[in-house]
Amino acid sequence: MTLLFLVAIILIIYYLFIYKEAYKNIFGQINGKKCPNCGNPIESNYNVCPVCKETLRKKCPDCGKMVDINWKYCPYCEVQLRKGENG
Ligand SMILES: [Zn+2]
Ligand SMILES: [Zn+2]
Repeated sequence: MTLLFLVAIILIIYYLFIYKEAYKNIFGQINGKKCPNCGNPIESNYNVCPVCKETLRKKCPDCGKMVDINWKYCPYCEVQLRKGENG
């Protein structure tokens, strides 16, 4: 009886641990950005992808601060980063 109880406790702890890891992975995927070139998960403060060296951020030509390559305008100095695009 005691042995069964112990096995049950161990199984519960084991499953809780697995679910915790699974939730962490799902949570990380929702919050995390992915490299547009290779799909590798990247941190928002990365300048290049650590796997394929895809450029993720560049320097603003006006104020020199790091800006996302997808941004159209610099949030720091309001300069237009992409030219020839309407919208
Ligand atoms: Zn990449
Ligand atoms: Zn700027």
